[in-house]
Amino acid sequence: MSNTICAISTAQGNGGIGIVRMSGPDCFEILNKIFIPKNGSKEIKGYSIKYGKIVDKDVFIDEVLVSYFVAPKSFTKENMCEINTHGGMVVERKILELCLKNGADLATPGEFTKRAFLNGRIDLSQAEAVMDLINSKTEKESKESAKQLEGSLSKKINDIEQKLFNTITAIEVTVDYPEYDIEEVANRDAVKELKEIREDLDKLKNSFNQGKLLKNGIRTVIVGKPNAGKSSLLNALLKEDRAIVSNIEGTTRDTIEEQLNVNGILLNLVDTAGIRDTENEIEKIGVKKAKKLANEAELVIALFDKSRKFDNEDEEIIKIIEDKNTIIIINKNDVDEENKELEEKLKEINKPIIKISAITGEGIEELYSKIEEMFKLNEISENNEIIITNERHKNQIQKAINNVSQAIDSLEVDTPVDISAIYIKQTLEDLGEITGRNITEDIINEIFKNFCLGK
Ligand code: GDP
Repeated sequence: MSNTICAISTAQGNGGIGIVRMSGPDCFEILNKIFIPKNGSKEIKGYSIKYGKIVDKDVFIDEVLVSYFVAPKSFTKENMCEINTHGGMVVERKILELCLKNGADLATPGEFTKRAFLNGRIDLSQAEAVMDLINSKTEKESKESAKQLEGSLSKKINDIEQKLFNTITAIEVTVDYPEYDIEEVANRDAVKELKEIREDLDKLKNSFNQGKLLKNGIRTVIVGKPNAGKSSLLNALLKEDRAIVSNIEGTTRDTIEEQLNVNGILLNLVDTAGIRDTENEIEKIGVKKAKKLANEAELVIALFDKSRKFDNEDEEIIKIIEDKNTIIIINKNDVDEENKELEEKLKEINKPIIKISAITGEGIEELYSKIEEMFKLNEISENNEIIITNERHKNQIQKAINNVSQAIDSLEVDTPVDISAIYIKQTLEDLGEITGRNITEDIINEIFKNFCLGK
């Protein structure tokens, strides 16, 4: 029998309302000791709300609304109530204390959701989707999390598991009836089926490339020699004065980081110190850092200055971006004079080139389109394919792929069927860890530990 837990479920701070939540077998008993409904009724009805006051013995604490959820029709499948207070830290804490004093325990992070999972209301991948939904930073990401909360990934995994069960049954039957010559046919069918399953799994795994972008954004670095206009570009992108713009070389010594939403995907932008040969120690560190950041980035935006001659510093930038995922930008396109040499040099390295003016905003839209095209951002969420956004899921899928491959290999070289069956069963275990059908308590605790309090 589980205990009764409580927590403040709304964000900390002063709000219009705040919610204290309780779940567990003693939930209504505890509530009864601290809540006096206005209409005096003792009746407890699920999906109903009562108006009244919270009291600490004779002392009035707040005027509240209490929502009732009677097991099993609640988020946790246990008896639950939510006390809607007037908000404000002191009142919320006071009510929480009263719940604790009267027998409830403080919930651990994510414990409500964990109970929803343990009591079978949602599976593990759905519980994780709750967390992702809460943490979503863009609409696209929240849409994907909502899809998984509804069970899209669980269904896909269950379908694959069903196919694996069927395959195992089909090949194991041949062990029981050695007198019939069905083994060869069964194995051939099994290989075909397993290859299809592997294709499905591969597709899921590969979707993580985009899922990762949805969740973490694109690590983007802006490089360019001093005064090429990096800070100005950053400002144009952010449409606000976040970076310091000045025409004294080397002012952007350290890096500035900002997040930018491009059509539902986050760009994690880092503006670096100008890259150039320098004797100045502090700047040297900046240059080194810029090179390092460019190496770690998923997208490098390399800025060149149309108003100045192509020089060694530009040459240095070219060296950095040669083998990187780069968009080349010729900035200061509002300047009239042509710069043929610069254009020629840049054409040689075979990367997309966009002419912009960070000052007038010309070309910025084209830059956005290029980023969308490069990372196939338009395709995300346009089709209804499932996108894996959780690294744990991706790793489990990778393990499953490895085991399916082993099963295929062993069937193809006619090793005893039992060996292939072991690999297929292992694949099922790998997948079972995604939905939580088959998972250890340690992993469960690890997952829920990252949840927020009150969820
Ligand atoms: P950073 O050192 O690369 O960060 O360069 P800044 O953004 O500080 O810009 C250096 C100088 O170039 C400033 O005086 C800017 O006003 C100017 N600048 C930046 N972008 C443009 C542009 O598109 N056109 C023109 N004409 N000047 C620009």
